[in-house]
Amino acid sequence: MVAHKSEILRLPTRELISRRSELAKCLGDLEHVLLGSLVEQTRRCGKAGCQCATTGSGHGPYAYLAPRRGRRGMRYVPADLLLRVRAALRQGEQVEAVLAEISAINVELLARREL
Ligand SMILES: [Zn+2]
Repeated sequence: MVAHKSEILRLPTRELISRRSELAKCLGDLEHVLLGSLVEQTRRCGKAGCQCATTGSGHGPYAYLAPRRGRRGMRYVPADLLLRVRAALRQGEQVEAVLAEISAINVELLARREL
């Protein structure tokens, strides 16, 4: 789906504009998009005598969402929301790829004075 830059350079202006329009349409419903990644971590519960303290193995692993801007905002992802979060992250990657291609097309259109 994502065209390489060399491919964009070869397309006639009319096709670039129509491709840009198709790309913009396929962005679809963006309400649930997430940018970031899933990480798994184990946790220690803090209870004296728990195996997590004595063996150092921890509980879990549990899933956390690491938002794009650093790990500071890591959020626990409950198991029943894991699929939804994965889908939202996948959509985030797709949206970014589409935006990158639209921008590449617009850069080329600017060079052609057709923006
Ligand atoms: Zn424990």
